[in-house]
Amino acid sequence: MHYLDHNATSPLRPECLSAMTHALGIGGNPSSPHAAGRAARAVVEDAREKVAALAGARAEQVIFTSGATESIHLAIFGAVEGSLEGEDSRTGRITRLFISAIEHKAVTATARKLAERFPWVRLEILPVTADGVLDLEALRVALREGKGRALVAVMAANNEIGTIQPIAEISALVREAGGLLLVDAVPAAGKMTLDFSLCDYMVLSAHKLGGPLGAGALLVADGAPLVAQIVGGAHQRGLRAGSENISGDAGFGAAAYAVADGAGERARIAHLHDHFEAALMGAAPEAVIFGRRAQRLCSTTGFAIPGLTAPTALMAMDLDGVMMSGGSTCSSGKVLVSPVLAAMGVDEKLAACALRASFGWSSTMEDVNAAVASLVKLRERVRAKEAA
Ligand code: PLP
Repeated sequence: MHYLDHNATSPLRPECLSAMTHALGIGGNPSSPHAAGRAARAVVEDAREKVAALAGARAEQVIFTSGATESIHLAIFGAVEGSLEGEDSRTGRITRLFISAIEHKAVTATARKLAERFPWVRLEILPVTADGVLDLEALRVALREGKGRALVAVMAANNEIGTIQPIAEISALVREAGGLLLVDAVPAAGKMTLDFSLCDYMVLSAHKLGGPLGAGALLVADGAPLVAQIVGGAHQRGLRAGSENISGDAGFGAAAYAVADGAGERARIAHLHDHFEAALMGAAPEAVIFGRRAQRLCSTTGFAIPGLTAPTALMAMDLDGVMMSGGSTCSSGKVLVSPVLAAMGVDEKLAACALRASFGWSSTMEDVNAAVASLVKLRERVRAKEAA
């Protein structure tokens, strides 16, 4: 089996499994004051410190959630509701929500729902360049126009094509305008340095790092507005009720720790990624790598071989034991082009061929070679058909 789909989920690291097994054996609730409760609390707080360190945050700025989707919901709804009490243009009501055109569905769907629920919040989608990078000039203009406080949501790097977004420049523009910045760092975490001081909210997910599915976090800067979306007990400073998922948090902490000093792992992943792209382009010079001219994550290649449609390629590669993702999806016989590629202005026919190889801690050169061999075989089949 050759698993090259780490941006969908990265297999559980052995050290995460050990941390989770240990946590599951404790048998106490972190809210209980007795010995078992204190042992459970120690596990959660240790994990909180490790997750905070992923982005240079402090432990008390971390809210554990059930994953990035919940974190995004908490940040967007929580910020808008929390801003209702504010008084001036810097602390006042959020009336404008800007998201980039290449955000994950968890952001776009939540933003749409918010705009429906709070009709005074105007949602605007910010364009990206043909290289899949946020158009800074468009952001500058959008922030200048209109009244009221803005919440801007941009990912640190794109999950489909890996393009790294200019967060420092975006942060400077948003801060100058008195707005708030939400960074979805899900695919970027562990693959590049994250700087929480640049934003007000940051979203993380354990399972993209080799931690467990169903564990995530929202980092919240001091003073940033936030109202709980799940209420009940006073867990996590009243910002997210519910007994903590101690095994999930422990696994998340272990994954964060594993990538904390991750230069070696990143260099190894980058080597596999670069080798994959070089071998792909060597064997299929007509292939297109999306966002190639932009700075990209060391782990992600969004590409297309013209004529080799994604559903066919994914099925055929699966038979060869190679697992990847497609950029576009198929519904009722129709190909739905990836909104990311559509926003970049990629031709629909080419977008229908979009594939994604994503590499992670368990990837090997054998995986890369098997993927390239499978793709080359499929390409030959397509060319033979075209020639017939
Ligand atoms: N944001 C991005 C950029 C993602 O890639 C994903 C998952 O694919 C999510 C958010 C949602 O993450 P989760 O599965 O933890 O809810």
